[in-house]
Amino acid sequence: MLDYLIVGLGLAGISFCEVFKKNGRSFKVITDGSQTSSLVAGGLYNPVTLKRFTPVWNAREQLDMAIPFYRDLEIKLGVKLDYKVRVLRRFASIEEQNLWFEAMDRPLLRPFLSADILCNKNPNIYAPFGYGEVLYTGRVATRALLTAYSDYLVAEDALTMETFDFGSLKMVGGLLEYKSVRAKNIVFAEGYGLKNNPYFNYLPLNGTKGELLTIRAPHLKEDKVIKSSVFIIPLGNDLYRIGATYKWKDKSNLPTAEAEQELLGKLDSFLKCDYQVIDHVAGIRPTVTDRKPLVGTHPIYNRLHILNGLGSRGVMLAPWAANLLYDKIWNGRDLPKEVDISRFAKKYFDKDQGNGG
Ligand SMILES: Cc1cc2nc3c(=O)[nH]c(=O)nc-3n(C[C@H](O)[C@H](O)[C@H](O)COP(=O)(O)OP(=O)(O)OC[C@H]3O[C@@H](n4cnc5c(N)ncnc54)[C@H](O)[C@@H]3O)c2cc1C
Repeated sequence: MLDYLIVGLGLAGISFCEVFKKNGRSFKVITDGSQTSSLVAGGLYNPVTLKRFTPVWNAREQLDMAIPFYRDLEIKLGVKLDYKVRVLRRFASIEEQNLWFEAMDRPLLRPFLSADILCNKNPNIYAPFGYGEVLYTGRVATRALLTAYSDYLVAEDALTMETFDFGSLKMVGGLLEYKSVRAKNIVFAEGYGLKNNPYFNYLPLNGTKGELLTIRAPHLKEDKVIKSSVFIIPLGNDLYRIGATYKWKDKSNLPTAEAEQELLGKLDSFLKCDYQVIDHVAGIRPTVTDRKPLVGTHPIYNRLHILNGLGSRGVMLAPWAANLLYDKIWNGRDLPKEVDISRFAKKYFDKDQGNGG
């Protein structure tokens, strides 16, 4: 008898595993690699929305949870994960510089923004209006994390690679049976795969496709993240990740020529050196209509739980949201109403529920 079965091993699934592990709970994970969001993510964390200079919701609380979370994982897995890289916002005009100064007057933003405008010193980047620097930033190597964490679970005999078969899930005497496994609870952490989950697919997960390129640019010599119309994220060894796109119609994980063109067009507007594209990846961000995570327990089946809707901020959100859900399930603590899926309960009861919900 397990305490938990977890479906999905992305940032959400890993965060759950770690909370359970710390609290001495037994669990197994089923995952299938059908979603790639955590695998391809740029991995950046920063407390400010760089497009409009607005604070990220609950940023301080999330960072306070995320930083020690990835540090502990580095120690446990023996892999470097958290790169403390600086993030510079390239200004496109004097007006944007002024917006930055206005943002600094807002108490919620001030702690996260540098007071000075930084001059561009890189001859291969066109940035005549300079940069603003965001503080408390970094990059988590999500692919390395997923690989190392999967290996760790395999060694613990806690990982099954298969697509979860909802037809094999039975609820017997208040407990759950899935094939030969019995568990007290299931946590679904399937990212955009939620669409195939008959218990939770009433939730308004819309999904936003993102694509990223990796380029080799030997002359660029930049060690900071540059945010302009696209991000340039230094990876070391003259490699840089360029991204990302936001598309709402296409829900496949396949890279497209259209996205490559879009990214390179934007990059060429401010990069002045040669480069070569060496990789191109895509994934679906699990985005929600109200831009808040989906955390909580099924409206009817109280042993089925969910952590999803991490949108474009899984690195910061996942450890925080996993702790909230654990506290709800084991300690009965209320979830913040902004993340609790009970905010969509009406959608569930309005829907023709059939057998599975
Ligand atoms: C191009 C791009 C760039 C991004 N950049 C950043 C960034 O810089 N910073 C940041 O914080 N976030 C970024 N994100 C967002 C981030 O990737 C997501 O918020 C996060 O990865 C979501 O994690 P998740 O575990 O919920 O979902 P996923 O990573 O999608 O994981 C879900 C897992 O569940 C499995 N699964 C699904 N259905 C089933 C099933 N039926 N049976 C078994 N397994 C199943 C999937 O195969 C997958 O392994 C980016 C996303 C994209 C696409």
